Amino acid sequence: MRAPIVQGWCPGAHRPMMSGDGLIVRVRPRMARLEAGQILGLCKLAGRFGNGTIDLTNRANLQLRGVAEADHQALLAELSALNLLDAEPGIEIRRNILVSPLYQPGDLTAQLTQELMERLGELPNLPAKFGFAIDTGPARVLTANSADIRLETGANGLILRADGAKTGRSVTKTEAIDQLIALAKWFADNHMSEVRRMAALISAQTLPQRWQGAAPGPEGKPLHPGTCELGNVYGAAFGQLPAQQLHDLVTNSGATAIRVTPWRLILLEGGAAIPAPAFVTDGTDPLITTDACPGAPLCPQAQVETRDVARALASHISGSLHVSGCAKGCARMGPADITLVGNAGRFDLVKQGRAGDEPCQRGLSAETLVTMDFT
Ligand code: SF4
Repeated sequence: MRAPIVQGWCPGAHRPMMSGDGLIVRVRPRMARLEAGQILGLCKLAGRFGNGTIDLTNRANLQLRGVAEADHQALLAELSALNLLDAEPGIEIRRNILVSPLYQPGDLTAQLTQELMERLGELPNLPAKFGFAIDTGPARVLTANSADIRLETGANGLILRADGAKTGRSVTKTEAIDQLIALAKWFADNHMSEVRRMAALISAQTLPQRWQGAAPGPEGKPLHPGTCELGNVYGAAFGQLPAQQLHDLVTNSGATAIRVTPWRLILLEGGAAIPAPAFVTDGTDPLITTDACPGAPLCPQAQVETRDVARALASHISGSLHVSGCAKGCARMGPADITLVGNAGRFDLVKQGRAGDEPCQRGLSAETLVTMDFT
C-alpha cells in the first residue's frame, strides 16, 4: 500500500511530510552511524531526488527535502538498497532513539541501543515524537536534547529516568530495556491524547516512586569541530550538509564511516583531517550556535527568508541568536538572547525570550537589522 503524505509532522521515510518545496523524507541512521558507502549513496540521492542538501536534525536524523511526490517510491527503493530503511514502517516510526555519538563499538551504550532496536516491537503505541535517549558514557551528553525516556549514567551506576524527573530508577544492564519498556507502557496507560510527552505528563500526574530515587551522574561536554579520539568533527551551519561537498569530504579524507549528532556536527571515523570550507571547522564560529529555521520559500508558514539574515547577523551579536520564519519557533524552543521573528515580510525583535513571546520592537527590515546595535 502506498504510504500517506503527512502534513505537519515527519515520522520517517515511509511517511514523508509535505513542505513548501516538496516532500521532506527523513532517514533515521541506526546507532547514529552510516558506513562510507551509505553516506556517499545518500549524497547522490540528495542530488538526484532532492535539493542537493541533507538536513541534520536536532534528533540526529538526516532529511532530504524538495522531493517530488512522484519520486517518493523510487527514493524509498534506493534507500532500501543502501540499507537505510526499515522494511516495516511501524518499526521505523518507533525507532526514535537518540544515541550518544561518543560510544565505542561493543560498549554499554552500543549494547543497550542494539537491544532496544531488537525489541521495538514490544513497545506500546506512543505519540509520534515520543523518543528515547541512550546516554550511558562516562558523562551524560544528551541532557539538553529531546527525549522522553532516558537510559543514563547515574551517580552510582546505570539509571532509567523519565524526562522531566530529577532522579531515575537504578537498573542493571540486564533489566534496563525491560524497565524502559515498562515505563513506556506506564506512559501509554496514563497519558491523555493531548499530552504527548513524558515531561508534560509527570508535571500533571505524579510519577510512581518505583521510577525515582537514583541520582543522575555528571554531565559532560558535547563535541566541537576539530579532532577527537573517535575521528574528525565538522560542523553544519543550521544543520545543512551540502551533499556534493559532503561526498567530497568523505571521499577525499578516506573516512570509513560518519556518525551523526544532535548538535549540528558530524564525526568522520578514520581518514585524515582535511580543509572543508563548506563546513564549520572553527569551534568559536558563531554559525554553529545560531538557530534559523528553513524560512521562506521552503516553509509554507514562513513570513520571511531566515538563513541569509542569520548568516549576516551571527558575528554581530554577542550571545545567542535565533531567526525564525514565524512565531512557531521550530528551530529553537528555548529562549535566545536575540530572537527575530518573521511577520508579514519584516522582523519582530524579542530579547531574552522565545519566538512566541511579546516583541520589544516590530516591523524591522533585513537592511535595518544589519546596521542595528542589539545591546
Ligand atoms: S518556525 Fe515557522 S517558518 Fe520556521 S519552519 Fe517553523 S513553521 Fe516554518
